[in-house]
Amino acid sequence: MKILEGKNVAEDIKKDFSKRINEINVKPNIAVLGFKVDDASNVYIKRIQKNCEKYEIGFKLLLAKTEEEFIENFEQIKNDKSITGIMFQQPLPEKLSNLINEVSPERDIEGISINNMGKLFIGRKDALIPCTSRAVMEALDYYNINLAGKKVVVVGRSNIVGKPLIPQLLQKNATVTICHSKTENLREHTSTADIIIMAIGKPRFLKKNDIKEGAILIDVGINFENGKIVGDVDFEDIKNKAQACTPVPGGIGTITNAVLIDNIIKSVTT
Ligand code: NAP
Repeated sequence: MKILEGKNVAEDIKKDFSKRINEINVKPNIAVLGFKVDDASNVYIKRIQKNCEKYEIGFKLLLAKTEEEFIENFEQIKNDKSITGIMFQQPLPEKLSNLINEVSPERDIEGISINNMGKLFIGRKDALIPCTSRAVMEALDYYNINLAGKKVVVVGRSNIVGKPLIPQLLQKNATVTICHSKTENLREHTSTADIIIMAIGKPRFLKKNDIKEGAILIDVGINFENGKIVGDVDFEDIKNKAQACTPVPGGIGTITNAVLIDNIIKSVTT
């Protein structure tokens, strides 16, 4: 089985970052807003900060302990014209999440606002696209995985992964099936799929009996099991049946970090 390493894809995305940043007039400057941030989220935020420092992107972090404090932080950032991009550390209560719709789509660097999502669904090139869903597409593209006419099953329908994958996969002429927790006979779908994208957050959920011989698997899941990070795919179980699979860690997560920086640069150039 071929292991679709995320590092190669991320390096390819990052290769012209410095050049692109040097060519733009406006220095990217982002703010990350968090609410009751836990340790895992803190690790993620630190990684974003490090990446921003590497490419001389301005970085500001505002952590709130209450909803009121989050809203105050948001109002401050919304009115600060020197901030080119805003990012919300998820999960957030819906009321706070919806605040992103109050800023212009270019400042929504994660592409989660109604405006960016609408642009994505009608195929507008200026859409900023949710980073993890784009990371999946970047991996498929980098490893020359042809999607035209293929049956692609996406398991998971969240706003940041499953749903934004629909228009991107259709754009590549895939035949798309979206499954979720209410899907009956999930195996009927996965076992006939050419490509399966797993994004449910259930450790080692997908087994060899769920897939067809030679299937290509993209594992978005990040789960903590006995102090180790594992994906939604049972990597050991499927390795003699699948044709290829992204690893966890070292797969889609690695690419997502690079895509976020790409979105930040795009947000000041489009
Ligand atoms: P989410 O919002 O919790 O959504 C999970 C989705 O999985 C839902 O649509 C749910 O169905 C579906 N689901 C849950 N159990 C299922 C089951 N047994 N069978 C079929 N479908 C099931 O999750 P998310 O934010 O999309 O994240 C999904 C996973 O990706 C998590 O492990 C997360 O940590 C990981 N993730 C990774 C990255 C990265 O950069 N690699 C980024 C974001 C998330 P319903 O809609 O019916 O509830």
